[in-house]
Amino acid sequence: MSSTAYCYHCGTHHPIEEMRQIATKGGGKRWRCIKSIQATKRPIAERDAFGRQITAMNTAESQSKARLTVNEK
Ligand SMILES: [Zn+2]
Repeated sequence: MSSTAYCYHCGTHHPIEEMRQIATKGGGKRWRCIKSIQATKRPIAERDAFGRQITAMNTAESQSKARLTVNEK
């Protein structure tokens, strides 16, 4: 028999083996699944690189649009 606990992050129950108990600021304890903890801990550099990629794409797009506008005139 496997027990579950309520995951405050997902708002649902997961098997306890997939969860960690987190101490809250109020001194209480809450369960949170390891998956959601790891998702939060994903390296910031990874997200930054993704953000830069999007910015570069948007910049290139707006530059090509600007060029088109110039050519039309
Ligand atoms: Zn969860």
